[in-house]
Amino acid sequence: MNDTRNIPAQLDAVVVGAGFSGLYMLYKLRRLGMSAKVVEAGADVGGTWYWNKYPGARCDVESMHYSYSFDRELEQEWEWTEKYPSQPEIHAYISHVADRHDLRRDIVLNTKVTEARFDEESSRWTVRTDEGDEVSARYCIMAVGCLSKPKLPEIPGIENYTGNWYHTSHWPEERVDFSGQRVAVIGTGSSGIQAIPILAERADHLTVFQRTANFSLPTFNGPIDQDLVAGIKAEYPRIREEARMSGFGIAVEEPTQSALEVDDEERRSKYTERWNRGNLTGVLQAYTDLLVDERANETAAEFVRGKVREVVRDPEKAEILCPRGYAFGTKRPCLDTGYYETFNREDVDLVDLRATPLVEITENGVRTTEREHEFDSIVFATGFDAMTGALLSIDIVGRDGVSLQEKWAEGPTTYLGLTTTGFPNLFTITGPGSPSVLSNMIVSIEQHVDWISDLLSHMSQQELAVVEPTESAEKQWSDHVQECGEATLFTKTDSWYMGANVPGKPRVFMPYIGGVGPYRQKCDEVAANGYEGFALQ
Ligand code: FAD
Repeated sequence: MNDTRNIPAQLDAVVVGAGFSGLYMLYKLRRLGMSAKVVEAGADVGGTWYWNKYPGARCDVESMHYSYSFDRELEQEWEWTEKYPSQPEIHAYISHVADRHDLRRDIVLNTKVTEARFDEESSRWTVRTDEGDEVSARYCIMAVGCLSKPKLPEIPGIENYTGNWYHTSHWPEERVDFSGQRVAVIGTGSSGIQAIPILAERADHLTVFQRTANFSLPTFNGPIDQDLVAGIKAEYPRIREEARMSGFGIAVEEPTQSALEVDDEERRSKYTERWNRGNLTGVLQAYTDLLVDERANETAAEFVRGKVREVVRDPEKAEILCPRGYAFGTKRPCLDTGYYETFNREDVDLVDLRATPLVEITENGVRTTEREHEFDSIVFATGFDAMTGALLSIDIVGRDGVSLQEKWAEGPTTYLGLTTTGFPNLFTITGPGSPSVLSNMIVSIEQHVDWISDLLSHMSQQELAVVEPTESAEKQWSDHVQECGEATLFTKTDSWYMGANVPGKPRVFMPYIGGVGPYRQKCDEVAANGYEGFALQ
């Protein structure tokens, strides 16, 4: 126990992670009168928005909607500067929330939780950290993030490389100077697509290594429209409520027509109008069947490919950049600022790793099956071990000495994405089996935290000490999550939603695609029916 850091030996709750989830959870626990500490591996609060400081890091939900709704005064006071907020701006916002609600005094930074063990006799969790802390807590709340365990490419040799290398999600605090350098970017997911246009400007020469072309849409980002801000602020409660009951956590008009019901011209005009909105949901939500019918999806996919061909002058490069082989939207689509335009620069090369796969990192750069490329710096934009990576990095041991790694060896199973049988009093915020990464995550985070808080309040009123989902409730829910996934095109795509980006990870569709609104209703129903599906004692 490291008492200089002032963690008491006994707490009501330990929260792991100080991003949006952990901060709001702490706020709510305090209001319940519970003693709690948040343990955070990073040197500051912010989670995603603390770690991902790479050039161009930005949210792809609009500023006015990617914010907490619980503090009605803050949502009126806070002034976003851009349509889509940049990482520094979101980090400033989260820091402000931490200060405004005096949260920092219960947050222990620079400390990783390594182990959490459930003691059946006392019905308490013992939580241990890499700093030697040992804390006993009634509740253990995992707010560890779905995209917080970085992943490197599975090729050998990184230890031999003599230049500088970076992972987008562990970007250094100080600005990295790429001037005069030959720089490589490996990976063209969201982070790569955001960073590439800026790195191209800063480096002497940029080479982009692409394995899978992603669908990317322009943000048309810029200073936030003040009339729009005034309109949203005047209507915030209604807009937030609509977001809570929507499919993806963003208030949008729901589609009513199939893409196959209309002719080419009408479709094209609708896609164009929605493309020009510069957001994630515009084109994807144009028709009812884009995520469930391959033919319908192909009309939208081909529309986006047409946009790539319009921008990229070199037809060979354009074809490499055109996504194929999976349905539009079944990997998280990207939003960009000048991504495709970057490939018209003389000083930017594109290497198609489908044609010439990576073999190794060498002393001087990268070797593909074709040749060695030399670089002064390499940027890995290779994503995350998503949804379960951070959780399973902690040695979590529940009833009968069974670890979460063992229990989830074939893929995660949960009840409502919030809890899992055999691990009483353990909660996962935005866990697998909840809408999570398929939503505006702040909406999902607030819903989880509110729901957990209501349950804890119920337990203390009823003088209950232990909550755990029943096996049958968990099985039913997990089957439902899979059925919903299988009714869509998502499960046909090798994506990180399916664990496909991590060798050896079970192929299971992890998030819940049934919709943010229906999911909320289900959680509310469970609570209203006396926490149906849970054993409480
Ligand atoms: P995080 O912000 O990931 O915080 C989890 C924290 O837990 C981290 O700080 C981590 O250090 C800490 N932690 C993990 N394990 C341990 C441990 N063992 N011990 C101690 N601390 C630990 N979502 C959207 O809705 N819209 C977007 O446009 C969007 N853009 C994104 C862009 C990027 C580049 C990334 C990476 C994510 C994006 N997300 C987006 C998802 C984003 O993660 C969530 O919106 C939100 O920030 C998650 O908050 P969180 O608190 O749940 O998790």
